[in-house]
Amino acid sequence: MVSPLHSNGRAELRDEKVVMPFGDLAPRPDIRPEVLLKLSGKLQTTLELSQLIEIFFTEIQQAVLIDGLTFNHAPNNILLSQGKASVHSASYRLQTQQDYMGDLMFHRSTRFREHELANIEGLLSTLVYPLRNALRYHEALAAAFRDPLTGAGNRVALDKTLSREIELAKRHGQDLSILMLDLDHFKRVNDEFGHGMGDRVLKEAVLSMTDCIRQTDMCFRYGGEEFLIMLSSAEEAGALRIAERIRMSINELRFTGDKGTLQVSASIGCSSLKGDDSMESLITRADEALYVAKKHGRNCVISDCDMAIPEPLDKQTVPTPNPNR
Ligand code: GH3
Ligand code: MG
Ligand code: MG
Repeated sequence: MVSPLHSNGRAELRDEKVVMPFGDLAPRPDIRPEVLLKLSGKLQTTLELSQLIEIFFTEIQQAVLIDGLTFNHAPNNILLSQGKASVHSASYRLQTQQDYMGDLMFHRSTRFREHELANIEGLLSTLVYPLRNALRYHEALAAAFRDPLTGAGNRVALDKTLSREIELAKRHGQDLSILMLDLDHFKRVNDEFGHGMGDRVLKEAVLSMTDCIRQTDMCFRYGGEEFLIMLSSAEEAGALRIAERIRMSINELRFTGDKGTLQVSASIGCSSLKGDDSMESLITRADEALYVAKKHGRNCVISDCDMAIPEPLDKQTVPTPNPNR
């Protein structure tokens, strides 16, 4: 965990009262561990800033009743509000050693008591890490790091996001996997159905990918008809399941044009983060697995770990129930 919260060292009430948060005589947070655990889990379900603030506002009501919450990040021009503003407020500057992450203001019609402020500070520590991720995600999107055709992230976004995710995953001992996906025989699509159809296929394929992943995962256009999907907190088995879902969903697409109906497929290579991985080595392993998938006839998923060809879900034989059991 990043060093939790370097607030401005004090919680300020508007009526000039100043409370030192964790001095010897100051109250300690008194929050049930399950509330903190639940809050922390929920905050990790999104990278969208507005959703994050909404979740935080809703969830903390179990520990401290507040009427409203305002999040302000002036450098990025972000102002978000939940609930309503009220007479009393307590504000905090969120700052890690490296990053300024905005100001949060809690509003209430009655004064905050000191033990409530201690609880707010305890709850804020769960927000720091998800908030930093959400801010970076917001920055990446706001800088127009998107591929204009498909809406997937572009290479600049990929480099920034993946290198950061690798660093965070290593620091916190979390899993991270990537998928390298390439549409099969895509040149033929253009040659036989035209470039317009090719573009349509690319857009639909990306929609299939994003439909199969979580909100915290991201899809990037790596090259022409090649995509990289970043799966946060996914170990190899989980990543392979998602990859298989994506492969099937692309294979189920149908495109009708002047020349008839078109079906496409994708080959996918998967790699999972190891301790000594760099972004380059992680991508290289996914690329090698993709190469094997192509060599083995395409329309399949291969992992970097065993390079074995898994039986696709739609081709697996269903075991017959044992009547003697
Ligand atoms: P493989 O199964 O081995 O990957 O074969 P492939 O035909 O998919 O691969 P190849 O690299 O030979 O061809 C990729 C094609 O993708 C060629 C290029 O014209 C097309 N392509 C790349 N970007 C775009 C795009 O933005 N729009 C369209 N319509 N086609 C694109
Ligand atoms: Mg291809
Ligand atoms: Mg290609």
